[in-house]
Amino acid sequence: MKFVIISCFIIIIAGCAGGPYTQTNKQYKKKARDFAKLLRQYPLKDSAGLPYAADWVGTTNFSMRRPNFVIIHHTAQNSCEQTLKTFTMPSTSVSAHYVICKDGTVHHMLSDLLRAHHAGVARWGNSTDINSSSIGIEIDNNGAEPFTPEQINSLTELLGRLKRAYNIPVPNFIGHSDIAPGRKVDPNKNFPWADLAGKGYGIWYDTTALELPADFNPVQALRIIGYNVQKPETAISSFKLHFVPSDTTLEVTDPEKKILYSLQQRSL
Ligand SMILES: [Zn+2]
Repeated sequence: MKFVIISCFIIIIAGCAGGPYTQTNKQYKKKARDFAKLLRQYPLKDSAGLPYAADWVGTTNFSMRRPNFVIIHHTAQNSCEQTLKTFTMPSTSVSAHYVICKDGTVHHMLSDLLRAHHAGVARWGNSTDINSSSIGIEIDNNGAEPFTPEQINSLTELLGRLKRAYNIPVPNFIGHSDIAPGRKVDPNKNFPWADLAGKGYGIWYDTTALELPADFNPVQALRIIGYNVQKPETAISSFKLHFVPSDTTLEVTDPEKKILYSLQQRSL
């Protein structure tokens, strides 16, 4: 009896102590419960309430869908607190699976198995619903400053865990600017893409002893790598931000053509 009373007391105190996200955590739970209900529904019905097929025979062999891309962002906000607030206000409609603060703290905001709203209108290769197939990681950064060593350490550890858990292919660690050329410029030029590629997260180039074919086409190379080349100049800009951040022009120089050729070969 005494134990029950103490337990109740602890629960009441914990409930009151709350913190700023008590209410939004409740909303998360409710939403997750609603989706769990949907998972239990079979056969699944369309918006008119009709099943997609005439007959249902449940298979015994299945698993959850898995993310196959990791998209890295900078928050373009002034603090981690501000970002957590933004991602817990229904009116903003935006979110990410993870937020990494300047001191290296990692906030997990959404199950990896659910769809966050971080990519917006985006495309990589033939994938057009990047939110459905990716994990979104936001790094607290105002858009122009360097990333802290603590952030990069936490990010590297997180990427390792995600890569192992979901078997994410090396080329599929990319930035928001890569999948939304002309619209997004994150993560900024200070992001250590080369170091991360050296650890197996994303591709990098090696132009040593590389001979450029006479008919080499830079726009075609960008397309093969994954960029949306509908507006080639925006794709060039995103490519340079990721691989040659020191060059902000739109001209593709001969050394840059070699970089593109090397990346193209690693993307095939
Ligand atoms: Zn972004």
